[in-house]
Amino acid sequence: MRRRGIRKPIWVVITRRRMSYLLKEAREAVREGREDLARSYVKKAIRLGEKMNVRFRRGEKWYLCKKCLLPLVPGVNARVRFYGNTLHITCLTCGSTRRVPLGRRVA
Ligand SMILES: [Zn+2]
Repeated sequence: MRRRGIRKPIWVVITRRRMSYLLKEAREAVREGREDLARSYVKKAIRLGEKMNVRFRRGEKWYLCKKCLLPLVPGVNARVRFYGNTLHITCLTCGSTRRVPLGRRVA
């Protein structure tokens, strides 16, 4: 059953779509200043992913604060800076920084 194939099973597609939707709602909540609501959306998305064994897409994972579980919205609660090839995403709520080394493939 769990062979590695080119085509993804349909539940992966559905789950990922649902996770993206939850993150979108979470970002909206951050913009409205409702951090608790945002956090609950993020937790739901993470729990769903764990349950269904689906990971976040790369870009989605970067914009989540590991420490306070908030979605990071640049210009609202996050600061994004480039240092050479490394992307620094700082959570302005708790001050933790995520460093993302970027290869040549990502612009
Ligand atoms: Zn944080």
